[in-house]
Amino acid sequence: MHHVIIGAGAAAVSAAETLRQHSKTDKITMISAEGANPYSRMAIPYLLTNKIDEAGTHLRQRPNYYDSLNIEVIKDVAVSLDCANQSVMLENGGALSYDRCLLATGSVPLKPKIEGINNSRVHNCWTLEDARSVAQYAQADMPVVLMGAGFIGSIILEALALRGVELTVVEHQDRMVPRMMGEKAGGLLKGWCEYKGVRILTSTDIVRVEQRSETRLNIHLSTGDVLDAGLLIAAAGVKPNTAFLQGDQIVVDHGVLVDEFMLTSYENVFAAGDVAQALDFSSGKREVQAIQPTAVEHGHIAAMNMLRASSVRHRGSLVMNVLDTLGLLSCSIGIWQGVEGGDMVERFDPDRYRYLCLQFDGEKLVGATVVGHRDHQGALRGLIEGRYLLGAFKEVLMKDPNKIMEAYLAVAQTDATLVR
Ligand SMILES: Cc1cc2nc3c(=O)[nH]c(=O)nc-3n(C[C@H](O)[C@H](O)[C@H](O)COP(=O)(O)OP(=O)(O)OC[C@H]3O[C@@H](n4cnc5c(N)ncnc54)[C@H](O)[C@@H]3O)c2cc1C
Repeated sequence: MHHVIIGAGAAAVSAAETLRQHSKTDKITMISAEGANPYSRMAIPYLLTNKIDEAGTHLRQRPNYYDSLNIEVIKDVAVSLDCANQSVMLENGGALSYDRCLLATGSVPLKPKIEGINNSRVHNCWTLEDARSVAQYAQADMPVVLMGAGFIGSIILEALALRGVELTVVEHQDRMVPRMMGEKAGGLLKGWCEYKGVRILTSTDIVRVEQRSETRLNIHLSTGDVLDAGLLIAAAGVKPNTAFLQGDQIVVDHGVLVDEFMLTSYENVFAAGDVAQALDFSSGKREVQAIQPTAVEHGHIAAMNMLRASSVRHRGSLVMNVLDTLGLLSCSIGIWQGVEGGDMVERFDPDRYRYLCLQFDGEKLVGATVVGHRDHQGALRGLIEGRYLLGAFKEVLMKDPNKIMEAYLAVAQTDATLVR
């Protein structure tokens, strides 16, 4: 059996390892558009802050790791898929046949339609190559503008601030991380960043990029202001990398639609990670999550089903976004916005940069937002993922949401509260 994995990121590596763990003899080929060493995008901020070198970003550090597992990594680009003939067309290597194929091509950054955006001093921060360019320009005291304060933008923000650049963040929405947190929590994050010396402009758009001199840009804003910058980093969102699928039989909605076995609309073709639109734990709908733990989970489940059809069912991945922004920890889990008719309790302490919000659906905890607390995340995740009925502990939490660990220990150890 030949398993061909298109991609070499978190989902791909998780799948390849699972395949090898369960089959010593199947042939496994990973196609890597970006070189022979699979790496983690999540490690890029550590590279930018010199905590690691490029080798430190590699997914698995042991020399010859993939060779030792008899996993072939091909540096090439998949340009199309011929599902009927079970083959992948490569840019350089011709057609590659498969028995099972996994689409693990991740996301690509969105390109905002802004005049001047193609300037050589405008970069994304998505690939290792991007990171090299960012490192070249983002030197201490250089004025740098970051477009977008979403989850990825906020991660990059910290790396840039730690590099000592003179940083301004421009965000279209009225707060930071608008798809991860509400007004109060997003506002706290903004206040914290400003306190740490980062300028944050919310409800503001970049409308034009102009080359002012050889080394400087003028960044024109919707407010009429103009920012000086030696580098503009675009972190204005990503979309599933499905372009190479055009014209074939794989059904794509926002991402590649997969069932609970990570199977696409075509037999023997699976999808995992950022490219996949798969079951969400909380909503029960198929959604693109674009976070690394989900990619790893998808890769594992897809691989199990590539080995033996319908053997492992995906119950849906729980969204959990965690940020450590210049020392302020924040996190949102599950349905952090709440459900219609559900109860909510919150504690807001802006002077100490602290916020805690719990969202309930009946007796179950379904979502939470945490800012400034270091000790709640594990118990919150456990309560939400376990779908425990809280019973009397719901009232305890409504009165004091800080009693998360007590609630978790009480209900998680009582079988009677479990909903199976
Ligand atoms: C700076 C940064 C920080 C991040 N931090 C976090 C974090 O803290 N927490 C978190 O959960 N997530 C984080 N993410 C997001 C996380 O990295 C992604 O969700 C994760 O990488 C998705 O894994 P994936 O395997 O689906 O896709 P990717 O890791 O994007 O891998 C896709 C692979 O496919 C290859 N490829 C693409 N097209 C082709 C083709 N046509 N042919 C061959 N190969 C192809 C690519 O080269 C790549 O190897 C971060 C992302 C960035 C950029």
